[in-house]
Amino acid sequence: MAEGIERAKFDSQQMAAVNQAVGVAEELVSNFYKFSNSQMRQLNYDVKTASQLAPHEIVEDHFAQIVRYHAQKRDSLLETDAADFYLICLQDHAILAAVERFSQLRLYPFMVYIVCHELIHVVRFRRFLQHFHVPADERQLEEIRVHHATREMLKKANIEAMEPVFTFYGKWQEAFEQMDEIMVNQDDAT
Ligand SMILES: [Zn+2]
Repeated sequence: MAEGIERAKFDSQQMAAVNQAVGVAEELVSNFYKFSNSQMRQLNYDVKTASQLAPHEIVEDHFAQIVRYHAQKRDSLLETDAADFYLICLQDHAILAAVERFSQLRLYPFMVYIVCHELIHVVRFRRFLQHFHVPADERQLEEIRVHHATREMLKKANIEAMEPVFTFYGKWQEAFEQMDEIMVNQDDAT
């Protein structure tokens, strides 16, 4: 990636909304999965924004990406002592561009959605419901499932201006409904 590209970053007012959204998203995810505080800590993740990201943690066309790091205990030869750490890398420039482009979209509810979505990915990696590296078609199916779970979680949360966010992600919900149809059809066939 070319160095020296100036990408938009959250200003201090936007950072306040982002931090608030991260806190609310963590609470929603914790409640949804009925996690205790220690279970929440075991997810072993962090959330960072552009000003804290290394060049390889920045992507152009996603709102966030998860980078997995391996931490291994010193002096240990056992693979089982390795602990994965998930870094949720928020892509300020892409998020701000979307908020600017879609006038209905507000930063705060959009951020709650994005962070909930990424945390659900982390939960599913931790539960081995999903491998970190998968082929593109499997990744697409997982995206559909995670968008659906995010929507289910947020429907009950009663967050202001969330409806335009659901509209923004409407194609994922359509894909989920089509996926259900495909599964029903397969059942019919057997
Ligand atoms: Zn995703």
